[in-house]
Amino acid sequence: SARRICVVGSANIDLTFRTPRFPQPGETLTGHALHQGMGGKGANQAVAAARLGADVTFIACVGNDAFGKAAIDAYAAEGIQTTFIRQAEDQPTGTAAILVDDDAENCIIVVAGANAELHAEDVKAASSMIEQSDAVLCQMETPVDAAVEAFRLARAANVLTILTPAPAEHVTDELLALCDVCVPNKTEISALTGQTVETEADTLRAAERLRERGVRRVALTMGGDGVLILDDSGSTHIPAINVDAVDTTGAGDAFTAALAVSLAVSLAEGMTLKESARRASAVAGISVTRLGTQTAFPTLKEVSEWITLKENA
Ligand code: ATP
Repeated sequence: SARRICVVGSANIDLTFRTPRFPQPGETLTGHALHQGMGGKGANQAVAAARLGADVTFIACVGNDAFGKAAIDAYAAEGIQTTFIRQAEDQPTGTAAILVDDDAENCIIVVAGANAELHAEDVKAASSMIEQSDAVLCQMETPVDAAVEAFRLARAANVLTILTPAPAEHVTDELLALCDVCVPNKTEISALTGQTVETEADTLRAAERLRERGVRRVALTMGGDGVLILDDSGSTHIPAINVDAVDTTGAGDAFTAALAVSLAVSLAEGMTLKESARRASAVAGISVTRLGTQTAFPTLKEVSEWITLKENA
């Protein structure tokens, strides 16, 4: 049967402006094009998990505006349970204004808007969904009290807790102590542990330090350099799959969602963190070969076809 995943986190509208160059203060520029997409780490992970066949409940807060309605409709169309997405009355849907110039350099302004209104009460309202799920995913683009509540409910019900500690400055020790699997990138693990991550020995030390802060298992993502896994049985390096990277935006979210789905399956089939991370690397690798964020996340069928293709190559 399909695995049940609850995602607690952010939902944004991304407005991408293509422009010849960035404007000077006071200047009005004519852009080339405007692209509207859905984003936010929470929403990205919810969509990535749903594409992989999981039964996903998304607990989030959007505005009572056109963007908020569009977001809920889009997630419902992905088969995501949207009952617990609240529409806040007095805040806009979280929005990112992304400027991309002709050199592919970017400048971004993000306004949290309704994301800042997601609190423990919203999570409590969805407690039965959390208790019935196989895994709960949180990130830090929504208030930490919501994440702590989600992880508390999950722990009490023996549900796996998975954290993307981004932005790292919002992470608390209380939250880390409730975390089964933490999935930082290099910037985040550095901020969380004070450990620089230049060499291989550094990265291992950083992962060890993160475990010392209360996390049970660590999956440190290192872009094209793959993933470092650390748990009770020791450390393993999982190489990234060899692909032509086109757009790595959202690769971390694709990886984390795929890891959650695999680990949820593994509860039944005994798949280890290492095997789950290997599968998640394939999912993230496919997503970097395609443009966009949520548009790049593969379906279960596409992942199977891709793996078959590689095995026969
Ligand atoms: P982002 O912020 O862009 O979403 P991130 O910094 O959170 O990404 P990364 O460590 O860049 O996360 O990437 C996550 C995973 O995606 C990697 O561990 C790897 O498995 C896969 N990946 C990323 N970049 C590449 C690449 N160039 N080739 C193959 N796989 C990649």
